[in-house]
Amino acid sequence: MASINIIKNKCIGCKRCIGACPFGAIEIVDKVAVIKENCTLCGSCVEVCKFNAINFERDKIESVDLSKYKGIWVFAEQRYGKLKSVSLELLGKAKELSDVLKTKVTAILLGHRVNELCHELIAYGADEVLLMDEEWLNDFNDHIYGEVIIDLVNKYKPEIVLVGATSKGRSLSPHISSTLKTGLTADCTGLNIDKESKLLVQTRPAFGGNLMAEIICPNNRPQMATVRPKVFKPLKPDYNRKGKITKIHKPPVEGFVKLIRNIDNSEGLSLSDAEIIVSVGRGIGSAKNIQLAKELADELGGVLGSSRPVVDIGWMPYSQQVGQTGKTVAPKVYIACGISGAIQHLAGLADIETIIAINADSEAPIFKVANYGIVGDVNEILPLLIKNIKEAKITIDKSYIEHINTYP
Ligand SMILES: Cc1cc2nc3c(=O)[nH]c(=O)nc-3n(C[C@H](O)[C@H](O)[C@H](O)COP(=O)(O)OP(=O)(O)OC[C@H]3O[C@@H](n4cnc5c(N)ncnc54)[C@H](O)[C@@H]3O)c2cc1C
Ligand code: SF4
Ligand code: SF4
Repeated sequence: MASINIIKNKCIGCKRCIGACPFGAIEIVDKVAVIKENCTLCGSCVEVCKFNAINFERDKIESVDLSKYKGIWVFAEQRYGKLKSVSLELLGKAKELSDVLKTKVTAILLGHRVNELCHELIAYGADEVLLMDEEWLNDFNDHIYGEVIIDLVNKYKPEIVLVGATSKGRSLSPHISSTLKTGLTADCTGLNIDKESKLLVQTRPAFGGNLMAEIICPNNRPQMATVRPKVFKPLKPDYNRKGKITKIHKPPVEGFVKLIRNIDNSEGLSLSDAEIIVSVGRGIGSAKNIQLAKELADELGGVLGSSRPVVDIGWMPYSQQVGQTGKTVAPKVYIACGISGAIQHLAGLADIETIIAINADSEAPIFKVANYGIVGDVNEILPLLIKNIKEAKITIDKSYIEHINTYP
């Protein structure tokens, strides 16, 4: 385990290391540097100390025979026998990466009575499906699923493992990576292969979204990444594609927790699947005013979304938050009501055809990405929009009836 210590009799309290620490994890106490608990062991302070007063012991890197690791795996997440869209999106990306690496794409499918899904996985880009169809895998359990996948990784040695950044994927992937002592990059927004090293370059926002970091995992395998839904597009399915299905049987793995019952709180259409989202920001003013945005969403057959402050205040549930620490969405129409357009919010807007922004400030950054902008008080504009949409619907209905009446 890596560790860092100040050698007290060498430190002169010059404070140089304080400026070098990006995490504010060093303070001077009684003219001697002290490393605080939030130190991430990044090592940035070591070089700046001219007095060799910082002792940094790095973890020994166990050498792994990288040449033994081949192929790209995608965890095929399913629920009640239906594949999660993110798994299909990842298969498309994996196919693209596999063309560069000249290797194959394997989908890992665990569950009970899920055989049928193999053909869908092949249609969406898998060359092979490793299938474990067992009654004891019926309910997702991060420990049990994790142990099964770890065994498979140790046996088949894939060089890359991709997992959807869903709630299941987010609990499963760290279990796998920490047990295998390999790296994991969460919430990637880009995946590429470096032409020279052939390493997976994992891009994700860092330092509060102010810069994009490119992360590699050069010494350990597999290279692991999670990706949120809607970041990549799935391939057009080809149901004539041929692939290999390998059935695997294993004795049951014991979990630490037992599922007693499933409680499904999801109501109606999810943000990730919505084609129209009406999203509220702090500019909406109060929880009561959100009702207006809800009415507009209902009129348009859409779903309510929100910025983070609205969730932090408690006006909207976290499940509806759009952005870097919320959901990535890709509706056809996104209506931003009283949202400034901070970079962390925009990070959640994927491939959107039309963005409509309503904001009182004509200089708000959201107008830089919006296709249509309305400058004004959102609480005055929303009732007007709702009224106009209702009237337009009536007109459409009437002309439709007239059309039917005049039809021979
Ligand atoms: C690490 C990190 C992660 C983050 N993750 C997220 C995330 O996932 N999602 C997210 O949204 N944010 C996230 N943030 C916060 C982000 O930086 C912004 O603070 C946030 O997006 C701002 O939300 P907002 O636009 O609702 O509020 P504000 O920035 O306060 O903007 C309110 C807007 O409403 C307008 N307005 C005010 N009154 C009216 C009115 N009556 N009518 C019309 N317009 C009006 C104002 O002109 C203003 O533009 C994150 C920040 C950090 C540091
Ligand atoms: S740079 Fe070195 S000598 Fe100066 S305060 Fe930090 S640890 Fe001490
Ligand atoms: S190792 Fe990194 S986080 Fe820790 S004190 Fe040094 S610079 Fe700060």
